[in-house]
Amino acid sequence: LSAAAAGRSTLIAGNWKMHKLAVEARSYVAELRALLEGSMQPPNEQVQVVICPPFTALHAAAEAAHGSRISIFAQNMHQEPEGAFTGEVSAAMLLEAGASGVLLGHSERRAHFGESDRALALKIPAAFSAGLRPVLCVGESEEQRSAGETERTLRHQVGEALAQVSADQLAEVVIAYEPLWAIGTGNVAEADQIQEAGSFIRALLAARSPAAAERAHVLYGGSVSERNAAEIVQLEDVDGLLVGGASLQPARFAAIVAAAG
Ligand code: PEP
Repeated sequence: LSAAAAGRSTLIAGNWKMHKLAVEARSYVAELRALLEGSMQPPNEQVQVVICPPFTALHAAAEAAHGSRISIFAQNMHQEPEGAFTGEVSAAMLLEAGASGVLLGHSERRAHFGESDRALALKIPAAFSAGLRPVLCVGESEEQRSAGETERTLRHQVGEALAQVSADQLAEVVIAYEPLWAIGTGNVAEADQIQEAGSFIRALLAARSPAAAERAHVLYGGSVSERNAAEIVQLEDVDGLLVGGASLQPARFAAIVAAAG
């Protein structure tokens, strides 16, 4: 079923990566709020808006977003509640800072910081137990796609990371399909490639629980802009977007939110 037919909302998330100080986060959120609230159309309640600032700007962003339709998610988290893990941040710390969800397994964390499927298998349940909504990022490299290994890669990433997640929790999972070759390259995936991957990911979830698969959100990420957002978000198995570069300016991000509504 399509998102609308299955009653799934649309989720538009902006990943700032390592950009913006707290003071910049505050003015960004104020501007985004004004753009979303000031638009001529009444807000589409079916479109959820999420911003993912760096750790140090979470609190400022959450304060500025208070009482609006903007939710604040973090970009990473450690799986343990506390301990000798220098430089890491726990789920409770994210909640305290005002986050209500967290990106996990972003390809930049996998490529540069040794994020593993084994750690993700612990991080996703830890996020759920703390009351944070996890967004699991998956996606194949260019080499894997040309070798015909896209489905094998996705099956492995989704299977490992969600192994310990219950069928109930599976329905609350957000999976962002982000082909590596499309991230930050301006080289957005073709509509049929996105739909094919989205439907494959939903089938993987359905093998665990058909009901959960109908409710879970599958997002697309990779060079999304205000020009291509509307076409991508209407695909049957796409329930939203994860936006990097184009989320850094409030006007561009607001235009993407508007395109999704
Ligand atoms: C991302 O960082 O998740 C992403 C999709 O980046 P971009 O939109 O810049 O390709």
